[in-house]
This record gives sequence, C-alpha cells and structure tokens, in this order.
Amino acid sequence: MDENLKKTSEQQEGMLSKYALVLTSIKGIGVKTFSYLIPDELKEKIKIGQPVFVPFGKTRYINAYVVGFSNYLEEGIKAKYISKILDTTPVFDMNYLKFLEWTADYYFCSIQNVLECAVPIKFLNEQKTELTQKFAEFVSFEGATKRQKEVLEKLESKGKVNLSEFVKEAKTTVLTMKKLEESGCIKITEEKLYRNPLEIFKNTQLQEFPKLMPEQESAYKEIEKRLGSHSCILLHGITSSGKTEVYFKAIKKVLEQGKNVLFLAPEIALASVLTQRLAKRFGTEKTAIWHSSISEGEKFDVWQKIKNNEIRILAGARSAVFAPLKNIGLIIIDEEHESAYKQTMPSPRYDARTVAQKLAELNGCPLVSGSATPDINTYYYAKNSGNLLELKKRYNDYPMAKVHVIDMREERFKANNGIFSQALVKAIENNLKDKKQTIILMNRRGFSTYTQCLACGEVLQCPNCAIPLIFHSQTQTLRCHYCEHEEPMPETCPHCGSETLKNCGTGVQKVEIIAQKLFPEAKIVRLDSDALARKNLHIDILNEFSKGETDILIGTQMLAKGLDNPNVTLVGVINADNSFNLPDFRSSERGFQLLTQVAGRAGRGNNPGDVYFQTYNPEFFALETAKEQNYDNFYKTEIQSREEFDYPPFSKIIRIILSSKNQFRAERSAQEITLRLNDIVNKMQLAEPIAVLGPSACVIEKLQERYRFQILIKNKLGEKGHRLIHSFLSKIKLPDDIKITVDVDPLDIL
Ligand SMILES: [Zn+2]
Ligand SMILES: [Zn+2]
Repeated sequence: MDENLKKTSEQQEGMLSKYALVLTSIKGIGVKTFSYLIPDELKEKIKIGQPVFVPFGKTRYINAYVVGFSNYLEEGIKAKYISKILDTTPVFDMNYLKFLEWTADYYFCSIQNVLECAVPIKFLNEQKTELTQKFAEFVSFEGATKRQKEVLEKLESKGKVNLSEFVKEAKTTVLTMKKLEESGCIKITEEKLYRNPLEIFKNTQLQEFPKLMPEQESAYKEIEKRLGSHSCILLHGITSSGKTEVYFKAIKKVLEQGKNVLFLAPEIALASVLTQRLAKRFGTEKTAIWHSSISEGEKFDVWQKIKNNEIRILAGARSAVFAPLKNIGLIIIDEEHESAYKQTMPSPRYDARTVAQKLAELNGCPLVSGSATPDINTYYYAKNSGNLLELKKRYNDYPMAKVHVIDMREERFKANNGIFSQALVKAIENNLKDKKQTIILMNRRGFSTYTQCLACGEVLQCPNCAIPLIFHSQTQTLRCHYCEHEEPMPETCPHCGSETLKNCGTGVQKVEIIAQKLFPEAKIVRLDSDALARKNLHIDILNEFSKGETDILIGTQMLAKGLDNPNVTLVGVINADNSFNLPDFRSSERGFQLLTQVAGRAGRGNNPGDVYFQTYNPEFFALETAKEQNYDNFYKTEIQSREEFDYPPFSKIIRIILSSKNQFRAERSAQEITLRLNDIVNKMQLAEPIAVLGPSACVIEKLQERYRFQILIKNKLGEKGHRLIHSFLSKIKLPDDIKITVDVDPLDIL
C-alpha cells in the first residue's frame, strides 16, 4: 500500500491543499503517482477522480487522474503546476478509490496495481477521446436559392438526419450545407457517438418476461425480501432449472427501485451472450458490456455513460467488478464455481467473487451467486447464514440424463485396449443413427500426455520447466503447456539416440483421430484452447454445433460451459478420473463440478439423455455423487475432509512462492522466511490458529527456468491474521535474484 496515497486520499477536494497527487501510465515506467502544484485558479474546482493535463519531463504533456491531495512533498522533488482540468465531472469518487484500496490491501499489492486493471488509463494517453457525428435539421426556406431549396425540401421531409449520409443521398456537398447553416436555413449539431456493440439490437422489440414456475417464484421472493440491505445469497439450482429468469425478475425489480445492477459471467464469450439477452429484455440503451477484450475506446465510452448514470445494467467478465458503476442495488455472479473468476496472472491475483462481496457490502445490497455446482465455500457460508435458495426441479420438468459408469478395468480384462469402451461406441453409433448429437469430453490438451523413449526410459521434458512436453499432432511439435516453449518432434531420443520415441497417454487430439476412424461418416469437430488461434472461432464452432451441423463435438472442459442444445442426447467422458488425480485439496471439487456440468449438457430439451463416465476408479465418492448428480451428498463428504485438514472454508490460505534460477538459493530463502514467520507466530502464541506449512518444492518445481518453493499459511484468525501476515511480508527485503509471489485464497497449490 502506498502510504502517501492512503494519507492524502482522505481528502475529497483540493481547496486547502498545495499539491495534487495524480495517477498516470507512462510507456516504459508503468502506472505511477506524481505530485503536482495546484494553480490558485483551480483550487476550488479540483476534485478526486478528475482527468487532468500535466507537464511531464522537459517537453511533454500527459493526461492523468487526480487521486489525492497533500500539503507536503517528498524531499528533493520539485513539483510543476497542473496545466488544466480536462473534465470537471470526476470519473470516480472517494468511495471507489477506497474500494480499490481495500482490494490492494487484501491481495497484498499496490493500489497502482489495482488501478491499472480497473481504470482505462492507457486510453488517457491517446489523443482521440471520443467520436462525434454531425446531424442536420431543417429550419426555414428564407433566403435560399432555387437549387438550395431542392435540398431543403428533401431535408424538411426527413426531419433530423445524419449529415454525411444526407449529403450523399441528396447529391449535394458539405460546403452547400455549411452555407445553408450560415444563412440560417438549417441547423447543424454535433453529438457524441458512443461505440455500442449492442447497436444491432437497437430496434428489436423487447422480449416479455415469462411466468415463473412456483419454485422459481419463491426463490425470487426471497431475493426481493433481501433487496435494500447487504447479504450473500446462493441460488443453487440444478442445470436447466431456470436460474436466469430468477435473476431477470430481480433485475427488473431493482431497476424499478431506481438502482443499478452489476452482472458477472465467468468468461468473455458467456458475458457477450448474456449481454445480448439483457439488451433484448431491458433495452440496448440501459445495458453495457465490460471485459478485458473490449477496446479502450469502448471502455472509455462505457465509463462516460456510467459517469452520467446512463448505464443501468453492466454485464461483464471478472474485470467488470472494477467498473465504477454507482448506486448498485444488486450484484449477480452466474456460474460462480468457475475458476475464471480468479485472476492468476498478472498481479493483482484477485478473485472477482471476493471483491464483489466487498462491493455489495459497501453498496448495502445483496450479492446473488448462482450455480448448479457451487463452490464449497459459497455453499457453506450461504447455508450457515440462512441465505441458501434452491431450485431442485428442471424447467418444464425436463428429465435428467441417465448416467452410466463404465469400469475401464473390465474393458481391459475383456481385451479392449482402446480409448472408447464398447458401450460408449455402441451408444454413439445409435445416436448417429437417430440423427442426434454427441459431446465427448477429454480434459487434456494435445495428442498424448508425455513422450517417452522405450529404449532408455527418458521422458522428454521442457527445458524451462520440470514438466513433460506434450506432442501436438497438427504441428508435429512438442509443446510445454506452462511456458511458450515449442520444438519439432525429434526423430531419435536426445538421450540415447534410439528411434523408439513413443507418444504415451491420451490427449484430446488423439481422441479426435480415433473417433474419426471409428465413425468415418460422422462430422466431428474439436474444441479446445489450441483450436482458438483465430478470434471468435470457438463461437463459430458452437454456433455450427447448435445449428446441428456437427454430429460429434470433442473437447476439453471448455465444452462444459454454457452449451445449451436440446438435440444433444449423449455425453461421453473418456477419462473421468483425470481431474481427481491432481495433488490439490480442490481436486475432488473440480472433478465433481466438471462431471456434473458436462452431464447437464445431455437431454436439455424433451429428449432424455445418456451420459457415460469411463473410469478406473468407479467407487470414488466424487464420481459416485456426480453420477447421481447429487450435490448435497458430495458436499457432506467433502466438507468433512476440509474440516479435518483445516482447509477452506475452515481456514483462509495464503500461498507464498519463492523462486530463483538457482535452486539452492530459492530453497534457502524459503527456509529463512518460514523460520522468521514461525518465530513471530510462536512468540505471539498464535501457532495453532495460524499454521505455517513448508517450505516445500512446488508440485511444478521448475517453471520458466525458475525453481519454486512454497510456504502455505492456513489462517484461522480472519482479518487479524491477515493483517499480521501482511505487515510481516511488507517488511521483507530479498536479494534481486529471488522473486516472491503471494497468492491470497489460491485456487490451486500446484
Ligand atoms: Zn532413449
Ligand atoms: Zn515450459
């Protein structure tokens, strides 16, 4: 935390201050704050959140935001004067700045860091801030020539028109129009043109609200009761139970109350689809989208509209939680179990769900999270605070899919060594015959899982990371999935020179090739992150699939999200054990969520569906409960083991990673920090509620040429423990070759 900034931002206006602290982004320097003198004539006008124009260096001028005031200057600094205020209406206010400060504190990073991912700062440094468009309107015929009158007649009949379009249409010139304006025959106005990606829905009729089913209606009523004060509600509804309509009715109510809504979706593609639905229901003018991939120009437009309170519903992916939407009456987080809500790289490693909770608290409004397979933490807190709402019926009573568990050990016993079990092959054949669609999940990218020399046993590894390289069939290369490393597949073993390299294990590309051999007549398409080289390609793939042009869609976990296609009647999971076998405390939860979500893709209409889980471990509880699609039973077992080992929700985890190109130095620095941390905790007699574990080598011990050692802290002291660790870490000084990474509430500990 920048102490200077913290102190000065207590003050909302600059009237009494000598200096303003401004925030800016400079190429090569990054996001930083600087102090500037406030000219007397600006003292009464200057406010937090205003964009200003300031001199920088010898010749340059740059744009910046006012973020604080002070009467003091750091020693040795000579401040220059602010040149002018670019816009007197602040783009954000004190409360917003405080919210960002909280985020910086919670995630142990600087406020500059948070501001960088929140505010479209880069945009400030470009010249063109907004697009405008000119319009023309008829005023009078007086004083016009004969030729001009013809133009005026056309204009009169049209009302207000876009100037450049009209010039073309009326076969006249801009100069003629200017002259007409000068003689008072027409009026030309200039209006701001917002770049609105929802423009295409502008003139479509608004969709009506359907009548809710009784279960949906009572869930809605419970949300309605809680509007106007803060609570964290979980809407736990099985797949196809109609959560979205419950959200929509709640949004309608909040808008009627004159408040605004923030709606988060886990991914950009889902956020886009969601925004379209919102626009069709509530109108394009009130709705906007925000995520990391909209252009800085679009972002700036949304900022402007938010500032003018024109946006009533803001939808977006995780970064939308930082959009400066005011007067929020409801925050919704859909598919709240998705790991995409957490930013893992770069810092701040924030979790939009945690940040949204704080935002809801500051706004005194409810946070509604929804999922068919909620995060264990969310479920635990909602259940214990009386804020758990459940939808147990499928919309229109659509039947649930029937899940079959195939024991692959028996297949091997029957001498079937293939990737597909006999039962799954038969089911796919029947489905193809019935002209129905199939989804196959294989949650591993690439062709195989590792490449091994059968002569000497060498497994080919990434030179930068302690991770096997993965063969990719299309490019005939070996790739590392953790860094950018890629190399041609060697013909001989680099270790012993034998020509016996084998691509072992199964990846999604291998499944695709085998499926094409097994079902030569079928149209098969693969969907994984390697297929996403072209922008929007996956939207095209999903569109084709939903139009019924694809028979079998094969892919990684990307498949499990948001696909809603009534013609899908069969789902096959090639290796259901896959996600359970990671050495991580969340692996059962992740596996259960993935299997339940993908099973939910089958039989979404009136067609009953079938789901096949192929496994070597059919008795595992997470697999059994996923088979029954029984979240409650899964939760009961999982929460016990979390309690037994003090994992969240029974503690909060802080993960510290020390890394260096030198293995010994990385390990030694981790040991030193652990010792000092233990020392403090023991002295304060807090060793029980603040457990320090490690150091130990990370599961992925070497990543991008750096050796990694981790310390895990299980904090059962809440805020007090958090502050203690924060102050300890902020005092640590490390040599330049050692890097420290702190991850608060990490999603994995690999
Ligand atoms: Zn070899
Ligand atoms: Zn690598």
